[in-house]
Amino acid sequence: MVQRHIFSEEHELFRDSVRRFIATEVTPFHRQWEKDGKVSRDVWLKAGAAGFLCSNVPVEFGGAGADYLYNAIFTEELGRAGVTGPGFSVHSDMAATYLLNFGTDEQKRKWLPKMVSGEVIAALGLTEPDAGSDLKAIRTSATREGDEYVINGQKVYISNGQLCDIVILACKTDRTAGARGMTFIVVETDRPGFERGRNLEKLGLKAQDTSELFFRNVRVPVANRIGQEGEGFAIAMHNLAEERLSIAVSAVGACEGILGYTVDYTKERRVFGKSVSEFQNTRFKVAELAAQVQAARVFVDRCIELAVDHQLDPTTAAMAKMLAGELQCKVADECLQFYGGYGYMMEYQIAHAYLDARIRRIAGGSSEVMREIISRKVFA
Ligand SMILES: Cc1cc2nc3c(=O)[nH]c(=O)nc-3n(C[C@H](O)[C@H](O)[C@H](O)COP(=O)(O)OP(=O)(O)OC[C@H]3O[C@@H](n4cnc5c(N)ncnc54)[C@H](O)[C@@H]3O)c2cc1C
Repeated sequence: MVQRHIFSEEHELFRDSVRRFIATEVTPFHRQWEKDGKVSRDVWLKAGAAGFLCSNVPVEFGGAGADYLYNAIFTEELGRAGVTGPGFSVHSDMAATYLLNFGTDEQKRKWLPKMVSGEVIAALGLTEPDAGSDLKAIRTSATREGDEYVINGQKVYISNGQLCDIVILACKTDRTAGARGMTFIVVETDRPGFERGRNLEKLGLKAQDTSELFFRNVRVPVANRIGQEGEGFAIAMHNLAEERLSIAVSAVGACEGILGYTVDYTKERRVFGKSVSEFQNTRFKVAELAAQVQAARVFVDRCIELAVDHQLDPTTAAMAKMLAGELQCKVADECLQFYGGYGYMMEYQIAHAYLDARIRRIAGGSSEVMREIISRKVFA
């Protein structure tokens, strides 16, 4: 296998502690969380205390001041372990980025230290019932009244929706200005008029809370606005590249995890007097998948390097998200086949992996939207 060069010895030590944390504090509880439809707040606090949340937040705002590689390791290892419940990546790799890149020092001091400790859980609220791929079509409005905004509207499919304490919310401050009328505002969930809807029942990601959120005359100070009025669409586009990379990082981790335990299973399971791993079909299929996962790994590692240098462009990020997300679905599907009937049983991890993988082609920008972004560049 191709040697990875992007991580230092310190990074690998960090990876070891992440693996121990997942093995002791996440995996043993995951099946219960799947029944509960959400993870415990306790695991957030433990992840915070261990220094795994928002690792790249500067020291002055309560973080470790580490590089993005530490975030990537945590996200990758969660993917590899197949523990899809905790919405740590949405919190650290996505929501925190809005404050880090575009927040004022006052906003950073107010929220980032508690996001690092896990005392404050963040969600990112873009999607609405009538606006997903077409972000500029959102209708949630923020109307200025003196030193406050009055927010009205609805969001849907919001990860961390049941647990979140703040929502980085995409609003329209000018309905007539299209994409230029969008603004991000931080909304604390204890404000009057904020209401959580159902914890949505999903095909997979059973331990992850995904919700509708409602805003009825929610008043927030103007000081909660991220950037200037009308800058929201540009801010979202800026952050989307790294968000999509995080999805790709998690997806490649998941592919490696699935391949690993599937190979073990095929060595153990005996059919017609030999192990499933001895059939040429198994060996060839696994070889093909291993080659594709290796190629994805090398590409995504290069994207991580670019992200650390702030050089990752939206088209390359879209390629990474599309390739890795589609590959995860393929790997989960083809590996499940080696299990025969056991693969269809929820007591086997591969069945969960199969269901969990499907989201990759939809959330964070669907594969079709990724192809649109890529083809625009190719045909330019
Ligand atoms: C489990 C889960 C978690 C999520 N978490 C969050 C979250 O935390 N925050 C958040 O804001 N959102 C979240 N989402 C929303 C997610 O990002 C959207 O579902 C996604 O962007 C697609 O939008 P949509 O569902 O409205 O589909 P639509 O936009 O209605 O798309 C419908 C279909 O049309 C296709 N399509 C759209 N545009 C084009 C085009 N130009 N060319 C060809 N085909 C096209 C799409 O690919 C899709 O197949 C989550 C969704 C899920 C399911």
